[in-house]
Amino acid sequence: MATNRTFTMVKPDAVADGNTGGILQMIQKAGFKIVAMKQTRLSKETAGAFYAVHKERPFYGELVDYMSSGPIVAAILEKNDAVADFRKLIGATDPAKADAGTIRKLYAKSISANAVHGSDSDDNARIEGDFFFSSLERV
Ligand code: UDP
Ligand code: MG
Repeated sequence: MATNRTFTMVKPDAVADGNTGGILQMIQKAGFKIVAMKQTRLSKETAGAFYAVHKERPFYGELVDYMSSGPIVAAILEKNDAVADFRKLIGATDPAKADAGTIRKLYAKSISANAVHGSDSDDNARIEGDFFFSSLERV
């Protein structure tokens, strides 16, 4: 498949625990190029907007509280088959079900505080990247 892009966040638990560097190293060693990156903090409003697709789910309130609880690191990544390969690198949503060697197996604490976000489709990767980054902030 052609080179394409995905979007990721290092989530608040992982940033607070000092795992940003370890996670970015795994991402780069897996062959992803960083196209854009910044540390920022989501408000309840911006976290709620980012996860609006989940607003009817029972965990939505907890997810918004968690994602606005501290700084996150947002990045756009590029690689062949980026969306699918990044989902493989991060592992299952629930770290108890994540494969050995995945980012979530190594760094996630629970199904909610699960260390990283990864886009689930090319369309969502574009929407999510555009949510955080202007064209001036990308290489
Ligand atoms: N989440 C949660 N409880 C659940 C399922 C998901 O708290 O039962 C949180 C978790 O942080 C997850 C996010 O909601 O990463 C988005 O859920 P999704 O199903 O999209 O999982 P992902 O794509 O992140 O693996
Ligand atoms: Mg998802």
